[in-house]
Amino acid sequence: QRVRCLQREPLSRHTTFRIGGPVDLFVEVFYPDDVAKIMSFCKTNGLPIKIMGGGSNLLVSDGGVRGLVVKLEAAKVDDFFRETANDGLAYRDDGNVIVRVHGGLKTKTLISWCVRMGFSGCEFLAGIPATVGGAVKMNAGTQRGCMGDVVETVEVIDSEGKYHVLDYMKDCRPSYRHADIPESGVVVSATFRLLRSRPDKVRLKVKSIMKERLEKQPLGYPSAGCVFRNPAQNLSAGYLIDKCALKGVRIGDAEISAKHANWIINRGRATAKEVLSLIEMVKKRVFDEFGLVLQEELEIWH
Ligand code: FAD
Repeated sequence: QRVRCLQREPLSRHTTFRIGGPVDLFVEVFYPDDVAKIMSFCKTNGLPIKIMGGGSNLLVSDGGVRGLVVKLEAAKVDDFFRETANDGLAYRDDGNVIVRVHGGLKTKTLISWCVRMGFSGCEFLAGIPATVGGAVKMNAGTQRGCMGDVVETVEVIDSEGKYHVLDYMKDCRPSYRHADIPESGVVVSATFRLLRSRPDKVRLKVKSIMKERLEKQPLGYPSAGCVFRNPAQNLSAGYLIDKCALKGVRIGDAEISAKHANWIINRGRATAKEVLSLIEMVKKRVFDEFGLVLQEELEIWH
């Protein structure tokens, strides 16, 4: 089956927050050519379309969204390996390894593969539950690194179904949790520049990053990671929220994590409305205390 369509599919099944009402048509797509066909069909017929990867940076409203949500999936892990065995993997004289990766591939799978192959560069992605396409779009990362450090080119299908190969640094200009991907464009693959290392070394780095995350982040509950962008490089939103004594504050089942103030967790049956109320509360308190306007890092779908 190349494409899977589900009518009135609750998006809570596809977001890491486990929150979100239904979409008219949820379409899981595996092959870029099918993405291109769907994009041009929607454009011709004026149908609204949204792209989803791992659903890990999304807050979807309780009423859901209209039109189509297209979720890009890497067919099977096998297909990813087949692709890399054929034409996706190249070794450069300078010691770099270039690998082309499907946009729907889970970053977790990419990291496991890097560990097995002994390729270094993607370790910073450990614990970020994204797909490659979503990570490219958000320039996902941490203080240890971001997609801009490792991605060379991205293959994008635009809203008319046309393919483009873009230079990530020059054309997409990745910045803090943002990259310029042409409007409604779907990232169907990306090439990564990795370094040859050793499996044990890469594994150790991934493990230590995961350990640190477990200590600092409330990973036992559904969430979308950090809710707000840091207002400045040396000023974290978490610090400001903590200073407002908001840790642990709850509305319904939505809670400002007691472990990490910039995370809102879903303690069971939280609704988008409850999360949005917490977001508004945080913004007001931080503004009243510090005169700073916090901006959401997560994306809100109405
Ligand atoms: P989604 O959430 O599905 O979508 C996010 C955006 O990308 C949307 O605009 C969507 O339309 C677009 N998009 C998705 N796929 C594609 C595609 N193929 N082509 C074009 N556009 C696409 N983020 C960090 O940066 N650093 C962290 O350390 C971090 N830690 C996290 C920890 C947890 C536990 C969680 C739940 C989230 C965390 N996040 C973090 C947030 C999130 O994982 C990232 O923003 C990630 O890049 C989102 O990828 P996704 O595939 O889930 O995209």
